[in-house]
Amino acid sequence: MGTRAGHAPEPLLILATHNAHKVAELRAILAEAGIVSDDSARIQGAGEVGAPEPVEDGVTFAENALIKARALVAHTGVPALADDSGLAVDVLGGAPGIFSARWAGVHGDDRANLDLLLAQLADVPEEHRAAGFVCAAALVTPEGTEHVELGHLRGSLLTAPRGEGGFGYDPILRPDGESRSCAELTPQEKNAISHRGQAFRAIAPHVAAVLGR
Ligand code: IMP
Repeated sequence: MGTRAGHAPEPLLILATHNAHKVAELRAILAEAGIVSDDSARIQGAGEVGAPEPVEDGVTFAENALIKARALVAHTGVPALADDSGLAVDVLGGAPGIFSARWAGVHGDDRANLDLLLAQLADVPEEHRAAGFVCAAALVTPEGTEHVELGHLRGSLLTAPRGEGGFGYDPILRPDGESRSCAELTPQEKNAISHRGQAFRAIAPHVAAVLGR
């Protein structure tokens, strides 16, 4: 495979996200692990290859990550890396879990999701507000090899949002050992401890093996 004049280079690996920010973040993690150079154009996002989004009808983060990766492999014929993530609240038995992005009913309405969760937990005291972000990273190859790695970021839920950074439930999760919410951490500080960072760092050696690095 080489660079074709006037075209993007042939992809080595497809990342199952349409979010350019996530593609950059994942390229950086793979670069840190020494697998690809920082700006590798051969690591492409699902949006760049025009892949349709599959129905995520799994009941665990791992199943949904595998569904996304398998669909991309079927569409492109090259290895794919996907993730699925969410917030698991202990006192809610792990909810919102796989429903994190649409907890308040509309997919991706971060503020409504967070407000509903805070209202549901209004009477829950500090000592019972343990929660954590969870991420499953799945790697699937056209030959049918599959790997899944999980990452966790444990902490405690605040009673009101704090901080302007991040997304989703970041303003209400204070990681264990931290005085700040995830939305008050720099992106570098969050990546260093995050569920996604951990899951992708754990799967990086499998990616290296698949890419022959
Ligand atoms: P997805 O894996 O991008 O589909 O994320 C699912 C949902 O989980 C997001 O919409 C957020 O609500 C929540 N979530 C996942 N990771 C994070 C995080 O790092 N910070 C805050 N919210 C997150």
